[in-house]
Amino acid sequence: MFDNLSDKLDKAFHILKGHGKITEVNVADTLKEVRRALLDADVNFKIAKDFTTRVKEKAIGQDVLTTLQPGQLLVKLVKDELTELMGGDVAGINLSGTPSVILMSGLQGSGKTTFSGKLANYLLTKKNKKPLLVACDIYRPAAIQQLYVVGDSIGVEVYSEPENKNPVEIAQNAIKHAKANGFNVVIVDTAGRLAVDKEMMEEIARVHKAIQPQETLFVVDAMTGQDAVNTAKAFNDILNFDGVILTKLDGDTRGGAALSIKTVVNKPIKFVGTGEKMDAIDVFYPVRMAERILG
Ligand code: GDP
Repeated sequence: MFDNLSDKLDKAFHILKGHGKITEVNVADTLKEVRRALLDADVNFKIAKDFTTRVKEKAIGQDVLTTLQPGQLLVKLVKDELTELMGGDVAGINLSGTPSVILMSGLQGSGKTTFSGKLANYLLTKKNKKPLLVACDIYRPAAIQQLYVVGDSIGVEVYSEPENKNPVEIAQNAIKHAKANGFNVVIVDTAGRLAVDKEMMEEIARVHKAIQPQETLFVVDAMTGQDAVNTAKAFNDILNFDGVILTKLDGDTRGGAALSIKTVVNKPIKFVGTGEKMDAIDVFYPVRMAERILG
């Protein structure tokens, strides 16, 4: 599907053989390929530029005489740098509360409700938890209904108050319900909008302040590329969230949004969504994403 950057770098770097060391001049074309690959993967222009500058600084002066395939040296440098930038080790999820409260944020259509279900299913089946799903979207009855469909499909209870128009109260009551009924994780699905909007931000900020979640997760559609960065920044400014969920990675995207978001908000990407089904959830592995971005 994608051009293979590793092959391209390998070819470009054959020219370097015999030069002994990587210099600013002989690395320039190769770094251009790296930058193009990042832009193809929808990485923000400035981030791609800064990234190649960093790689250049690390590469220059490195000895290539002894390397049989000098291209591999740069591929490794690029991959390591990407991996480090995207978070290094796998980031866990804080489940220390009694119950642990997880607040989901993000735009409408990003995959919040689907992911809330996936996370509940993951915690139920893999972590031996008893999760409760909470419908806090007071604007769209269909959204509440959707959470019930999701909850039914995985055997997880859903809490809602269809007549209540105060999401803060609903969330607080849900936590009380969880405490009284032995649920140890509460996943609060909130209302999204099609674009960042003041009212939505104020509402989620109120819910956030009232319930003090152990984890606030920001859900974003990987297919939205560059827009994802601005949305992430807007939500992070308000919520100072703990982690990012990148959905729809099963689609035709290289996932450059992962690098851009991580660079701009500096929060770990914790999980990825890889399909519409409830088991289409994966822990985020920076090294795998680096390989995907590079193609
Ligand atoms: P919300 O408005 O943020 O709650 O978004 P939804 O959970 O309703 O998801 C919007 C659409 O994206 C639905 O049709 C989901 O089935 C779909 N969706 C969610 N996550 C994924 C994913 O990881 N991969 C794919 N292909 N579709 C997804």
